[in-house]
Amino acid sequence: MLKLDKLNFSYGDLKVLWDIDLEVNKGEIVTVVGANGAGKSTTLKNISRLVAWESGSITFDGADLAKLEPHQVVEMGIVHVPEGRKIFPEMTVVENLRMGSFIKSARPDREANIDKVFSLFPRLKEREKQLGGTMSGGEQQMLAIARGLMANPKVLLLDEPSLGLAPLLVKFIFDIIQEINRQGVTVLLVEQNVYQSLRIAHRAYVLETGRVVLTGTGEALLNDDHVKKAFLGM
Ligand code: ATP
Repeated sequence: MLKLDKLNFSYGDLKVLWDIDLEVNKGEIVTVVGANGAGKSTTLKNISRLVAWESGSITFDGADLAKLEPHQVVEMGIVHVPEGRKIFPEMTVVENLRMGSFIKSARPDREANIDKVFSLFPRLKEREKQLGGTMSGGEQQMLAIARGLMANPKVLLLDEPSLGLAPLLVKFIFDIIQEINRQGVTVLLVEQNVYQSLRIAHRAYVLETGRVVLTGTGEALLNDDHVKKAFLGM
């Protein structure tokens, strides 16, 4: 469904991604794990066309993303939930959700999708009139994911959804990601929480200083000696 082929990217003189090969098949949860600064967010930003790669390619259902603007990528069904939530703090929960369905194809489903995300996240329903900026970190993360779902994604790009959350909420967020996937949305997740994200991943990639150093099923990587030593403190 989504394919990165020998992708290279630099911020000015700083080369950040080196020959990244990565595939996401329809129906999968694919995780990219790696330390701070490994290039995980940058990989997602390239897919969303927020930055422009220097060589290699990204295709989605066979279509080349190279010439597309970010909004056209969303219209194709690739929806990015950025690191740090980036909700609209001065808007209410329901207004934030409506902003998620600005693309033409998602507008007719707006009210049905609001009901759908409220059943996934009852907490958001309880707080529908509250200003986004006054919610807790966990609630804002729920809102960011829910806003992404409002655009009818085929593939959801999730950047560090568990960052800064309490352990119980971390578990809730990973459970929700699995539920969203069961409902038919393909997921590409980048995370520093290596254990939890490998646990739910069908397949995973380990990124180290901008290079893919390891790939396999989530389960295989959980049992991999290098992963255990480098990320799981075992
Ligand atoms: P984190 O979880 O800390 O965001 P990451 O794996 O997502 O880590 P990236 O954010 O992709 O890493 O950053 C990769 C490298 O690119 C880092 O060395 C970072 O300092 C650098 N970088 C990120 N954004 C920019 C930018 N806008 N300008 C210059 N360098 C940047």
